Order: sequence, then structure tokens, then C-alpha cells
Amino acid sequence: MLRMSGQMSHPPMWDMAKLTCMNDGMIHSEDTEVGTSTARERRTVTGSTRLADHTTFRIGGPADRLVVARTEADLIDAVRAADAQSIPVLILSGGSNVLIADEGFRGTVVIVGTQGVDDVTDHATAPQTDCGPDLAPRHVIRVAAGEPWDALVATTVSRRLGGLEMLSGIPGLAGAAPIQNIGAYGAEIASVIERVRTWDRRDACVTTWSAEECRFGYRTSVFKREPGRHVVLSVDLRLDPSGSSAPIAYAELARRLGVDAGTRLPVEVVRETVLDLRRGKGMVLDDSDHDTWSAGSFFTNPLVNPAVAAALPEDAPRFPTSDDRVKTSAAWLIEHAGFHKGYGDHVASLSTKHVLALTNRGGATARDVITLARRVRDGVLATYGIQLEPEPVLVGLGLDETPADTRS
Ligand SMILES: Cc1cc2nc3c(=O)[nH]c(=O)nc-3n(C[C@H](O)[C@H](O)[C@H](O)COP(=O)(O)OP(=O)(O)OC[C@H]3O[C@@H](n4cnc5c(N)ncnc54)[C@H](O)[C@@H]3O)c2cc1C
Repeated sequence: MLRMSGQMSHPPMWDMAKLTCMNDGMIHSEDTEVGTSTARERRTVTGSTRLADHTTFRIGGPADRLVVARTEADLIDAVRAADAQSIPVLILSGGSNVLIADEGFRGTVVIVGTQGVDDVTDHATAPQTDCGPDLAPRHVIRVAAGEPWDALVATTVSRRLGGLEMLSGIPGLAGAAPIQNIGAYGAEIASVIERVRTWDRRDACVTTWSAEECRFGYRTSVFKREPGRHVVLSVDLRLDPSGSSAPIAYAELARRLGVDAGTRLPVEVVRETVLDLRRGKGMVLDDSDHDTWSAGSFFTNPLVNPAVAAALPEDAPRFPTSDDRVKTSAAWLIEHAGFHKGYGDHVASLSTKHVLALTNRGGATARDVITLARRVRDGVLATYGIQLEPEPVLVGLGLDETPADTRS
């Protein structure tokens, strides 16, 4: 792990203005020393401190203060300034993996708006031979935390770089991707991460983590295990310039592509097929489709001990894991515990396309979603003795708390 006390290991990728938003519903401009130059820029942007406007659930009350950090220096400064005054900080990227309380956030919300994708392949040390998939030369890119994830995937696919195609269509920004080790269709970002750079709020330094040091697991990492301590600044991804996808490992994807598991295909074919599958499940953001007003899967797939897995009905999915536990399917448990697609009411319900997504049908509050989530969790527990755990980060609320009724 490489640590650089109180300074940045490379200059910010873009120099833009910092925007500050006080809790009067509007974003105000702020004179900002940008990047390493002395240039000052004044901008006015209309916006809101209502966090519902910044989340895919479209739920969340106001923040006391909201800062949009568009350079790495601004991102660190904003967090450091709040920390110096002991003001609570919430880092918010695409807002697609959070459920924020109707009361909002009493503190500073820092929105990650940094940009830039750089080629950082070290050609001197990269293997020069192409002796098989594991030894093929790799292409490394450094992605600023604020880059939109799916646009990045689209760009890498159009450049015929393999490695991200199975993660097509996942909302949010690149910096959040390593936090819960995003995954879909048999792939995880862990398999392509070269290193992650963070701002360590506890020790006030920039830290560079190797993939091993990130201690990735199923929907987790060292960053998720120490919530709030590490602010991701950039992510280095190791991509395959052959134009081929990673081997197809997920049975549903292999079936749709009409190939055997283990086959590698052109990256663009895999991306299009993944996007198609995801759209059918309401897992690609679409403003006009309430099934996508969600945080994606609301519960993680439970990892249970073999005795619990053995007690499940014969047709329950079971996947062995490397730590001798068994992964089963949260969607299967929910459906077989009696919660059908669309279960709920006209305010908050399960998606009509996929039982794992809890959705806002228009006017839902955090309280409505929590009430629904608790009903589903308790139903699965009563039927199968397995406790589902929420995947999104719950801000200012918990599944066992009774949130105040804020509906007017
Ligand atoms: C329709 C839909 C489909 C989805 N499908 C998938 C899927 O297939 N696979 C999957 O894994 N996820 C999926 N998700 C969940 C979500 O998109 C991902 O977890 C995504 O990586 C979250 O990114 P974000 O930028 O929106 O993070 P946010 O929701 O803004 O933040 C999530 C958490 O990370 C923290 N955080 C964000 N950025 C940083 C940073 N730079 N440094 C430190 N902490 C940070 C936040 O404080 C918060 O705790 C889906 C969500 C939706 C709405």
C-alpha cells in the first residue's frame, strides 16, 4: 500500500469550478481556487439540496450543505474542511445504491464530479508475448471517480478493450464501483482492478491500494467494511486489447448468446446482449419506467452454511463459494415466500419485472420503502429461516428502525 501524506500523487485531471449548495434549495456559485493555477471561475447552476433529486430511488430529504467537487483537489478539500469542523460527510456519486431518510442528511453532502480517463499502461513492464488469456498484454486505464460507469463501459467496448462488457448497464459512477465490488452476469470489477487511489479521512493521506489489498468479496471490499473512511479518487482498470470478452460464465447469458460456458465473444456482442437482458428486468435506468426507480437489487444473495442450504427445498439455487459457504438466490427466496412481481401498493412495490428490486411508483418516501423491505425480509425469515441483508447503503435509517412518518 502506497501512502502520500496530505498530498496528491498526480495533478487533478480537469480544472473546473467548485459549486456549493446551501440548504435553501439552490446551488450557489463559489469563488474557487481551481487546480494548481490561480484562475478563479464564477458559475451559477440551478439545483437543489433535496437529495431525492440526486438518487435513482428519487427519495431523500434535504442536506444541510451540498458541494459538487469537480477536481480531485476540490474533492479532498471539501472532505477535509468538513472533517476539520467535525461536520458529518456523505459522499454521493450516482445515488444508485443508497436509500436516504426523508429527514435528509445533517451535514455536508459531497457530490463527486471529477472527470478524466487516462491511458497508464506501463509498456516497459507489460508482458510482450501473447501466450494465452492470462499472459496476454494488458491495457491499463486510470478513471477518475466521477466518470459515469456505463459511458466508460461503452467507450472501452468501442475501443475493443475487453473486461467491462459484462458490467454494462450498471448505473452510477466509477469511484463507487469498487466499494461494493459491482458485479453482474458472472463478472465482478475485482477481476480487472489494478489499483485504487483513495483519500484516507482518518490518516489524512492519499493511499494507493493493489487489488489484493482491496480485499474484494461478494458485494464488499475494504472500503465497504470501513464505511466513510476512504474516498475513492480514481480506479485503474486492466483491460484486454484483444477485442474479446472474458469467458462467458453465467448460464442465462450463455443461453441467450447461444454458446457454451467458457466461450469468449466480441465485446460488443456481449455488451448488447447484457443490456437486452438487463432491460427486460428493469435494470437499466429509464426515467419513464418506475421499475427502474430503485437501487437495483435491494437484497444481496445470502451466503449460508451448508446445513442451512441443505434444508432448503430441492429446487432452490445453490452455488458453492470459496469459503465453504453456499450462495443461494435472494430472488428465489422472495418469490417462493409468496412475494410476487409487483407486490406492494401504488406507492412502493417490488418491480413488476424482478422481485429483487424495491421501487418507488411515484410518491414513495423512505418510510414506505423500508416498510416494504421489512415485510419482505420478515416473510423470507419466517418461511426459510434466512435473514436477507440490504445491498444499498441506508443513510439515516435502518431496516429495524421505525422512521417518522413524513408524509404531509
Ligand atoms: C437499475 C439499477 C441496476 C443496478 N444493477 C447493479 C448490478 O447489476 N450490479 C451491482 O453491483 N450494482 C447494481 N446497482 C447498484 C449501483 O448502481 C452500484 O452499486 C453502483 O456502483 C453505485 O454507484 P453510485 O455512483 O450510484 O454510488 P452511490 O449510490 O452514490 O453511493 C453508494 C455508496 O458508495 C459511497 N461512495 C460513492 N462514491 C464514492 C467515492 N468516490 N468514494 C467513497 N465512497 C463513495 C457512498 O457514500 C455510498 O455509501 C444497480 C442500481 C440500479 C438503480
